[in-house]
Amino acid sequence: MNAELLTVGSELTSGATINTNTAHLARRLAEIGIACRRQTSVSDEPTLVRGALEEALQRSNLVILTGGLGPTFDDVTMEAIAQATRRPLVLMPGAAATIRRFYLRRHRRLQRAAMRQAYVPRGGQALPNPIGTAPGLWLSLEQQVVVALPGVPSEMRAILEASVMPRLKRWLSDGAIESRTVRTVGLVELQIQRALQRLRIPPAVELGLYPALRMVDVRLTVRAPSRAQARARLAPVEAAVRRALGRAVYGTDDETLERVVGGLLLRRRATIAVAESCTGGMVCDRLTNVPGSSRYMRGGVVAYHNDLKRGLLMVPAALLTRYGAVSAPVARAMAHGVRRATGADVGVSITGIAGPSGATAGKPVGLVYFGLADRRGSRTLRSQFFGDRLSIKTQAAQTALNWLRLYLLNVTR
Ligand code: ATP
Ligand code: MG
Repeated sequence: MNAELLTVGSELTSGATINTNTAHLARRLAEIGIACRRQTSVSDEPTLVRGALEEALQRSNLVILTGGLGPTFDDVTMEAIAQATRRPLVLMPGAAATIRRFYLRRHRRLQRAAMRQAYVPRGGQALPNPIGTAPGLWLSLEQQVVVALPGVPSEMRAILEASVMPRLKRWLSDGAIESRTVRTVGLVELQIQRALQRLRIPPAVELGLYPALRMVDVRLTVRAPSRAQARARLAPVEAAVRRALGRAVYGTDDETLERVVGGLLLRRRATIAVAESCTGGMVCDRLTNVPGSSRYMRGGVVAYHNDLKRGLLMVPAALLTRYGAVSAPVARAMAHGVRRATGADVGVSITGIAGPSGATAGKPVGLVYFGLADRRGSRTLRSQFFGDRLSIKTQAAQTALNWLRLYLLNVTR
Protein backbone atom coordinates (compact mmCIF):
# COMPACT_ATOMS: atom_id res chain seq x y z
CA MET A 1 0.00 0.00 0.00
CA ASN A 2 1.39 3.35 -1.06
CA ALA A 3 -0.42 6.17 0.64
CA GLU A 4 0.21 9.88 0.39
CA LEU A 5 -1.35 13.12 1.49
CA LEU A 6 -1.91 16.24 -0.54
CA THR A 7 -2.91 19.33 1.41
CA VAL A 8 -4.25 22.29 -0.50
CA GLY A 9 -4.17 25.87 0.70
CA SER A 10 -2.11 29.01 0.25
CA GLU A 11 -2.35 29.54 4.01
CA LEU A 12 -0.35 26.32 4.41
CA THR A 13 2.37 27.03 1.87
CA SER A 14 2.78 30.60 3.13
CA GLY A 15 3.19 29.40 6.71
CA ALA A 16 0.15 31.28 8.03
CA THR A 17 -1.51 28.03 9.14
CA ILE A 18 0.30 25.09 10.65
CA ASN A 19 -0.51 21.92 8.77
CA THR A 20 -2.10 19.82 11.50
CA ASN A 21 -4.23 17.81 9.08
CA THR A 22 -1.29 15.84 7.71
CA ALA A 23 -0.10 14.78 11.15
CA HIS A 24 -3.59 13.73 12.16
CA LEU A 25 -4.28 11.83 8.96
CA ALA A 26 -0.91 10.07 8.93
CA ARG A 27 -1.43 8.95 12.53
CA ARG A 28 -4.91 7.65 11.90
CA LEU A 29 -3.70 5.79 8.81
CA ALA A 30 -0.82 4.27 10.77
CA GLU A 31 -3.31 2.98 13.28
CA ILE A 32 -4.89 0.77 10.66
CA GLY A 33 -1.58 -0.28 9.22
CA ILE A 34 -1.32 2.16 6.29
CA ALA A 35 2.08 3.83 6.15
CA CYS A 36 2.00 7.32 4.71
CA ARG A 37 5.05 7.72 2.45
CA ARG A 38 4.79 11.28 1.21
CA GLN A 39 3.09 14.56 2.09
CA THR A 40 2.77 17.44 -0.32
CA SER A 41 1.31 20.91 0.14
CA VAL A 42 0.33 23.21 -2.69
CA SER A 43 -1.29 26.62 -2.86
CA ASP A 44 -4.84 27.10 -4.16
CA GLU A 45 -3.85 27.21 -7.83
CA PRO A 46 -5.82 24.86 -10.08
CA THR A 47 -2.83 23.79 -12.17
CA LEU A 48 -0.71 23.09 -9.11
CA VAL A 49 -3.38 20.99 -7.43
CA ARG A 50 -4.08 19.08 -10.60
CA GLY A 51 -0.37 18.52 -11.31
CA ALA A 52 0.36 17.36 -7.79
CA LEU A 53 -2.57 14.94 -7.88
CA GLU A 54 -1.57 13.52 -11.27
CA GLU A 55 1.94 12.86 -9.95
CA ALA A 56 0.57 11.32 -6.76
CA LEU A 57 -1.66 8.97 -8.76
CA GLN A 58 1.37 7.71 -10.65
CA ARG A 59 2.99 6.37 -7.52
CA SER A 60 0.33 5.80 -4.88
CA ASN A 61 -2.81 3.76 -4.56
CA LEU A 62 -4.29 5.94 -1.86
CA VAL A 63 -4.26 9.74 -2.09
CA ILE A 64 -6.01 11.83 0.55
CA LEU A 65 -6.47 15.53 -0.11
CA THR A 66 -7.63 18.17 2.33
CA GLY A 67 -8.67 21.77 1.76
CA GLY A 68 -10.20 23.72 -1.09
CA LEU A 69 -13.64 22.14 -0.95
CA GLY A 70 -15.50 25.29 0.04
CA PRO A 71 -17.85 27.41 -2.05
CA THR A 72 -15.47 30.23 -2.95
CA PHE A 73 -13.56 30.79 -6.17
CA ASP A 74 -10.28 29.76 -4.55
CA ASP A 75 -11.68 26.33 -3.69
CA VAL A 76 -10.51 24.28 -6.62
CA THR A 77 -9.92 20.80 -5.31
CA MET A 78 -12.98 19.01 -6.75
CA GLU A 79 -12.31 20.48 -10.18
CA ALA A 80 -8.68 19.43 -10.00
CA ILE A 81 -9.69 15.88 -9.11
CA ALA A 82 -12.21 15.83 -11.95
CA GLN A 83 -9.54 16.92 -14.42
CA ALA A 84 -6.79 14.66 -13.12
CA THR A 85 -9.07 11.62 -13.26
CA ARG A 86 -10.78 12.75 -16.50
CA ARG A 87 -14.30 12.71 -15.18
CA PRO A 88 -17.01 15.36 -15.35
CA LEU A 89 -18.41 16.93 -12.20
CA VAL A 90 -21.95 15.79 -11.47
CA LEU A 91 -24.53 17.15 -9.05
CA MET A 92 -25.25 14.95 -6.04
CA PRO A 93 -28.89 15.51 -5.05
CA GLY A 94 -28.31 14.35 -1.47
CA ALA A 95 -25.47 16.80 -0.97
CA ALA A 96 -27.51 19.59 -2.59
CA ALA A 97 -30.39 18.96 -0.19
CA THR A 98 -28.05 19.09 2.79
CA ILE A 99 -26.61 22.39 1.66
CA ARG A 100 -30.10 23.85 1.17
CA ARG A 101 -31.15 22.69 4.63
CA PHE A 102 -27.95 24.08 6.17
CA TYR A 103 -28.72 27.55 4.83
CA LEU A 104 -32.44 27.39 5.60
CA ARG A 105 -31.86 26.43 9.21
CA ARG A 106 -29.60 29.43 9.63
CA HIS A 107 -32.19 31.70 7.90
CA ARG A 108 -29.61 32.66 5.36
CA ARG A 109 -30.19 33.11 1.66
CA LEU A 110 -28.80 30.29 -0.34
CA GLN A 111 -25.87 31.61 -2.32
CA ARG A 112 -25.53 30.20 -5.81
CA ALA A 113 -21.87 29.54 -5.15
CA ALA A 114 -22.78 27.27 -2.22
CA MET A 115 -24.19 24.75 -4.68
CA ARG A 116 -20.71 24.30 -6.12
CA GLN A 117 -20.10 22.09 -3.11
CA ALA A 118 -22.73 19.60 -4.23
CA TYR A 119 -20.73 18.51 -7.30
CA VAL A 120 -18.34 15.58 -7.26
CA PRO A 121 -16.46 13.77 -10.04
CA ARG A 122 -18.64 11.12 -11.66
CA GLY A 123 -18.41 7.76 -9.92
CA GLY A 124 -17.48 9.35 -6.62
CA GLN A 125 -19.44 9.22 -3.41
CA ALA A 126 -20.22 12.44 -1.52
CA LEU A 127 -19.36 11.87 2.15
CA PRO A 128 -21.79 13.72 4.43
CA ASN A 129 -20.33 16.54 6.50
CA PRO A 130 -21.99 16.47 9.95
CA ILE A 131 -20.77 19.94 10.93
CA GLY A 132 -20.39 21.94 7.74
CA THR A 133 -21.65 22.17 4.19
CA ALA A 134 -18.83 20.87 2.00
CA PRO A 135 -19.13 17.10 1.65
CA GLY A 136 -16.05 14.96 1.34
CA LEU A 137 -15.29 12.64 -1.55
CA TRP A 138 -14.54 8.94 -1.85
CA LEU A 139 -13.55 8.13 -5.42
CA SER A 140 -12.70 4.55 -6.18
CA LEU A 141 -10.64 4.11 -9.36
CA GLU A 142 -9.47 0.79 -10.73
CA GLN A 143 -6.64 0.07 -8.32
CA GLN A 144 -6.70 3.34 -6.46
CA VAL A 145 -8.73 5.47 -4.12
CA VAL A 146 -8.84 9.25 -3.99
CA VAL A 147 -10.30 10.87 -0.88
CA ALA A 148 -10.96 14.60 -0.49
CA LEU A 149 -11.81 16.23 2.84
CA PRO A 150 -12.46 19.84 3.92
CA GLY A 151 -9.51 21.85 5.21
CA VAL A 152 -11.16 22.89 8.47
CA PRO A 153 -9.63 20.40 10.92
CA SER A 154 -12.84 19.65 12.85
CA GLU A 155 -14.78 18.93 9.63
CA MET A 156 -11.90 16.90 8.23
CA ARG A 157 -11.85 14.74 11.36
CA ALA A 158 -15.60 14.32 11.52
CA ILE A 159 -15.82 13.00 7.96
CA LEU A 160 -12.68 10.94 8.39
CA GLU A 161 -14.12 9.09 11.37
CA ALA A 162 -17.68 8.73 10.15
CA SER A 163 -17.06 7.80 6.52
CA VAL A 164 -13.43 7.36 5.53
CA MET A 165 -11.98 5.10 8.22
CA PRO A 166 -14.73 2.48 7.85
CA ARG A 167 -14.34 2.49 4.06
CA LEU A 168 -10.56 2.24 4.29
CA LYS A 169 -10.82 -0.70 6.64
CA ARG A 170 -13.20 -2.45 4.28
CA TRP A 171 -11.05 -1.62 1.26
CA LEU A 172 -7.91 -2.92 2.97
CA SER A 173 -9.20 -6.00 4.44
CA ASP A 174 -9.73 -8.91 2.57
CA GLY A 175 -9.15 -9.61 6.21
CA ALA A 176 -8.85 -7.86 9.51
CA ILE A 177 -6.52 -5.50 11.28
CA GLU A 178 -5.92 -5.46 14.98
CA SER A 179 -3.80 -2.90 16.70
CA ARG A 180 -2.87 -2.19 20.25
CA THR A 181 -1.03 0.73 21.80
CA VAL A 182 1.05 -0.10 24.86
CA ARG A 183 1.69 3.20 26.65
CA THR A 184 4.87 3.77 28.63
CA VAL A 185 6.27 6.51 30.78
CA GLY A 186 9.74 7.16 32.15
CA LEU A 187 11.81 5.35 29.51
CA VAL A 188 13.31 6.96 26.43
CA GLU A 189 12.86 5.61 22.92
CA LEU A 190 16.32 4.02 22.79
CA GLN A 191 15.80 2.07 26.00
CA ILE A 192 12.52 0.77 24.64
CA GLN A 193 14.09 -0.17 21.35
CA ARG A 194 16.82 -2.09 23.15
CA ALA A 195 14.33 -3.93 25.33
CA LEU A 196 12.15 -4.85 22.35
CA GLN A 197 15.00 -5.92 20.08
CA ARG A 198 15.58 -8.96 22.26
CA LEU A 199 12.00 -10.12 21.75
CA ARG A 200 12.35 -11.03 18.08
CA ILE A 201 8.92 -9.74 17.18
CA PRO A 202 7.67 -11.63 14.10
CA PRO A 203 7.62 -9.58 10.89
CA ALA A 204 3.85 -10.04 10.59
CA VAL A 205 3.50 -7.68 13.54
CA GLU A 206 4.25 -4.09 12.68
CA LEU A 207 5.94 -2.16 15.47
CA GLY A 208 5.86 1.62 15.79
CA LEU A 209 7.33 3.81 18.52
CA TYR A 210 5.70 7.19 19.11
CA PRO A 211 7.68 9.28 21.59
CA ALA A 212 6.39 12.35 23.42
CA LEU A 213 7.76 14.14 26.48
CA ARG A 214 8.79 11.43 28.97
CA MET A 215 6.38 9.00 27.35
CA VAL A 216 6.62 6.54 24.50
CA ASP A 217 3.70 4.76 22.90
CA VAL A 218 4.45 1.35 21.45
CA ARG A 219 1.98 0.45 18.73
CA LEU A 220 1.53 -3.08 17.46
CA THR A 221 -0.45 -3.74 14.30
CA VAL A 222 -1.30 -7.07 12.72
CA ARG A 223 -3.13 -7.92 9.56
CA ALA A 224 -4.63 -11.37 9.13
CA PRO A 225 -7.36 -13.10 7.13
CA SER A 226 -9.79 -12.90 10.06
CA ARG A 227 -10.24 -10.90 13.22
CA ALA A 228 -9.72 -13.97 15.37
CA GLN A 229 -6.45 -14.77 13.62
CA ALA A 230 -5.27 -11.17 13.93
CA ARG A 231 -6.01 -11.22 17.65
CA ALA A 232 -4.28 -14.55 18.08
CA ARG A 233 -1.16 -13.18 16.42
CA LEU A 234 -1.19 -9.97 18.40
CA ALA A 235 -1.82 -11.36 21.89
CA PRO A 236 1.49 -13.18 22.53
CA VAL A 237 3.50 -10.24 21.16
CA GLU A 238 1.61 -7.78 23.32
CA ALA A 239 2.20 -9.93 26.39
CA ALA A 240 5.93 -10.16 25.63
CA VAL A 241 6.18 -6.39 25.13
CA ARG A 242 4.44 -5.76 28.45
CA ARG A 243 6.76 -8.15 30.23
CA ALA A 244 9.86 -6.59 28.67
CA LEU A 245 8.85 -3.05 29.60
CA GLY A 246 7.56 -3.88 33.07
CA ARG A 247 6.47 -1.03 35.27
CA ALA A 248 7.10 1.54 32.56
CA VAL A 249 3.81 0.38 31.03
CA TYR A 250 1.01 2.45 32.49
CA GLY A 251 -1.86 1.83 30.13
CA THR A 252 -3.38 0.63 26.88
CA ASP A 253 -4.74 2.42 23.79
CA ASP A 254 -6.19 5.79 24.79
CA GLU A 255 -5.84 5.42 28.56
CA THR A 256 -4.14 8.45 30.11
CA LEU A 257 -1.65 8.52 32.94
CA GLU A 258 -3.96 10.69 35.04
CA ARG A 259 -6.83 8.24 34.59
CA VAL A 260 -4.65 5.35 35.63
CA VAL A 261 -3.51 7.27 38.71
CA GLY A 262 -7.15 8.07 39.49
CA GLY A 263 -8.05 4.40 39.22
CA LEU A 264 -5.28 3.44 41.63
CA LEU A 265 -6.38 6.10 44.13
CA LEU A 266 -9.94 4.80 43.96
CA ARG A 267 -8.83 1.23 44.47
CA ARG A 268 -6.83 2.28 47.48
CA ARG A 269 -9.69 4.51 48.68
CA ALA A 270 -7.16 7.30 49.11
CA THR A 271 -7.58 11.02 48.55
CA ILE A 272 -4.93 13.33 47.20
CA ALA A 273 -3.87 16.99 47.22
CA VAL A 274 -1.11 18.66 45.28
CA ALA A 275 1.14 21.62 46.09
CA GLU A 276 2.64 23.02 42.94
CA SER A 277 5.25 25.66 42.44
CA CYS A 278 6.97 25.52 39.04
CA THR A 279 4.21 23.49 37.35
CA GLY A 280 1.67 26.21 38.19
CA GLY A 281 -1.32 23.89 38.49
CA MET A 282 -0.58 21.49 35.63
CA VAL A 283 -0.80 18.40 37.81
CA CYS A 284 -4.13 19.50 39.29
CA ASP A 285 -5.36 20.33 35.80
CA ARG A 286 -4.52 16.87 34.55
CA LEU A 287 -5.93 15.08 37.58
CA THR A 288 -9.20 16.98 37.29
CA ASN A 289 -9.48 16.26 33.55
CA VAL A 290 -10.64 12.78 34.56
CA PRO A 291 -14.41 12.49 35.00
CA GLY A 292 -15.22 11.42 38.54
CA SER A 293 -11.96 12.76 39.97
CA SER A 294 -13.86 14.47 42.78
CA ARG A 295 -14.01 11.05 44.45
CA TYR A 296 -10.28 11.21 45.24
CA MET A 297 -9.02 14.69 44.40
CA ARG A 298 -9.19 17.05 47.38
CA GLY A 299 -7.57 19.99 45.62
CA GLY A 300 -4.33 21.83 45.37
CA VAL A 301 -2.35 24.94 46.05
CA VAL A 302 -0.25 26.84 43.55
CA ALA A 303 2.33 28.19 45.97
CA TYR A 304 4.53 30.07 43.59
CA HIS A 305 5.85 32.76 45.90
CA ASN A 306 7.75 31.76 49.03
CA ASP A 307 5.24 33.74 51.12
CA LEU A 308 2.57 31.23 50.11
CA LYS A 309 4.82 28.26 50.74
CA ARG A 310 5.19 29.63 54.27
CA GLY A 311 1.68 30.97 54.81
CA LEU A 312 -0.49 28.31 53.15
CA LEU A 313 1.73 25.25 53.34
CA MET A 314 3.48 25.97 56.64
CA VAL A 315 6.92 25.49 55.14
CA PRO A 316 9.33 26.71 57.87
CA ALA A 317 11.07 29.95 56.89
CA ALA A 318 14.35 28.47 58.09
CA LEU A 319 14.17 25.72 55.46
CA LEU A 320 13.57 28.25 52.71
CA THR A 321 16.56 30.39 53.71
CA ARG A 322 18.85 27.50 54.41
CA TYR A 323 18.14 25.24 51.39
CA GLY A 324 16.25 27.50 49.00
CA ALA A 325 12.77 26.93 47.57
CA VAL A 326 14.08 24.37 45.06
CA SER A 327 15.32 21.72 47.44
CA ALA A 328 14.40 18.34 48.87
CA PRO A 329 13.60 19.63 52.38
CA VAL A 330 11.22 22.26 50.99
CA ALA A 331 9.56 19.74 48.64
CA ARG A 332 9.04 17.44 51.63
CA ALA A 333 7.59 20.25 53.75
CA MET A 334 5.26 21.32 50.93
CA ALA A 335 3.91 17.77 50.60
CA HIS A 336 3.29 17.53 54.35
CA GLY A 337 1.79 21.03 54.32
CA VAL A 338 -0.73 20.44 51.54
CA ARG A 339 -1.72 17.12 53.09
CA ARG A 340 -2.38 18.80 56.42
CA ALA A 341 -4.13 21.82 54.90
CA THR A 342 -6.56 19.71 52.88
CA GLY A 343 -7.00 16.58 54.97
CA ALA A 344 -5.94 14.40 52.04
CA ASP A 345 -4.41 10.97 52.58
CA VAL A 346 -1.55 11.71 50.21
CA GLY A 347 0.17 15.04 49.59
CA VAL A 348 2.34 15.58 46.52
CA SER A 349 4.54 18.58 45.80
CA ILE A 350 6.62 19.98 42.96
CA THR A 351 9.20 22.73 43.18
CA GLY A 352 11.76 23.48 40.48
CA ILE A 353 13.35 25.88 38.03
CA ALA A 354 11.43 26.01 34.76
CA GLY A 355 13.81 28.56 33.21
CA PRO A 356 15.06 30.09 31.07
CA SER A 357 16.32 32.27 33.93
CA GLY A 358 16.45 31.52 37.65
CA ALA A 359 19.43 29.19 37.68
CA THR A 360 21.87 29.61 40.55
CA ALA A 361 25.17 28.00 41.49
CA GLY A 362 24.48 24.27 41.87
CA LYS A 363 20.86 24.67 40.75
CA PRO A 364 20.56 24.58 36.97
CA VAL A 365 17.45 25.25 34.91
CA GLY A 366 15.35 22.10 34.77
CA LEU A 367 16.18 20.96 38.30
CA VAL A 368 12.96 19.82 40.00
CA TYR A 369 12.28 18.31 43.42
CA PHE A 370 9.18 16.31 44.23
CA GLY A 371 7.75 15.46 47.62
CA LEU A 372 5.20 12.86 48.66
CA ALA A 373 3.74 12.57 52.13
CA ASP A 374 1.28 10.09 53.63
CA ARG A 375 0.36 9.17 57.18
CA ARG A 376 3.44 7.01 57.51
CA GLY A 377 6.04 9.49 56.38
CA SER A 378 7.45 11.17 53.33
CA ARG A 379 9.89 10.82 50.48
CA THR A 380 11.47 13.08 47.90
CA LEU A 381 12.69 12.75 44.32
CA ARG A 382 15.15 14.89 42.38
CA SER A 383 15.05 15.15 38.59
CA GLN A 384 16.90 17.12 35.98
CA PHE A 385 14.95 18.01 32.84
CA PHE A 386 16.01 19.71 29.63
CA GLY A 387 14.12 21.85 27.16
CA ASP A 388 12.19 25.09 27.12
CA ARG A 389 9.96 26.33 29.91
CA LEU A 390 6.79 24.58 28.82
CA SER A 391 8.52 21.31 28.14
CA ILE A 392 10.23 21.36 31.56
CA LYS A 393 6.87 22.02 33.22
CA THR A 394 5.24 19.23 31.23
CA GLN A 395 7.99 16.76 32.06
CA ALA A 396 7.77 17.72 35.73
CA ALA A 397 4.01 17.13 35.79
CA GLN A 398 4.46 13.85 33.96
CA THR A 399 7.13 12.71 36.39
CA ALA A 400 5.02 13.66 39.41
CA LEU A 401 2.08 11.62 38.10
CA ASN A 402 4.28 8.65 37.30
CA TRP A 403 6.00 8.78 40.68
CA LEU A 404 2.60 8.84 42.29
CA ARG A 405 1.52 5.87 40.15
CA LEU A 406 4.54 3.82 41.21
CA TYR A 407 3.96 4.71 44.85
CA LEU A 408 0.31 3.64 44.62
CA LEU A 409 1.22 0.38 42.89
CA ASN A 410 3.55 -0.49 45.74
CA VAL A 411 1.24 0.36 48.60
CA THR A 412 -1.78 -1.41 47.13
CA ARG A 413 0.00 -4.73 47.03
P1 ATP B 1 -14.24 25.97 3.60
O1 ATP B 1 -15.58 25.44 3.31
O2 ATP B 1 -14.13 26.50 5.00
O3 ATP B 1 -13.68 26.91 2.57
P2 ATP B 1 -12.23 24.22 2.63
O4 ATP B 1 -12.28 22.76 2.44
O5 ATP B 1 -12.23 25.04 1.42
O6 ATP B 1 -13.34 24.63 3.63
P3 ATP B 1 -9.90 25.65 3.25
O7 ATP B 1 -10.57 26.87 2.76
O8 ATP B 1 -8.76 25.13 2.49
O9 ATP B 1 -10.93 24.50 3.45
O10 ATP B 1 -9.45 25.84 4.74
C1 ATP B 1 -10.33 26.30 5.73
C2 ATP B 1 -9.56 26.59 6.99
O11 ATP B 1 -9.09 25.39 7.55
C3 ATP B 1 -8.32 27.43 6.74
O12 ATP B 1 -8.54 28.74 7.13
C4 ATP B 1 -7.24 26.84 7.57
O13 ATP B 1 -7.01 27.61 8.72
C5 ATP B 1 -7.76 25.50 7.98
N1 ATP B 1 -6.94 24.48 7.32
C6 ATP B 1 -6.95 24.17 6.01
N2 ATP B 1 -6.08 23.20 5.74
C7 ATP B 1 -5.49 22.86 6.92
C8 ATP B 1 -4.49 21.93 7.30
N3 ATP B 1 -3.92 21.12 6.39
N4 ATP B 1 -4.13 21.87 8.60
C9 ATP B 1 -4.71 22.68 9.49
N5 ATP B 1 -5.65 23.59 9.20
C10 ATP B 1 -6.05 23.70 7.92
MG1 MG C 1 -11.99 27.34 1.49
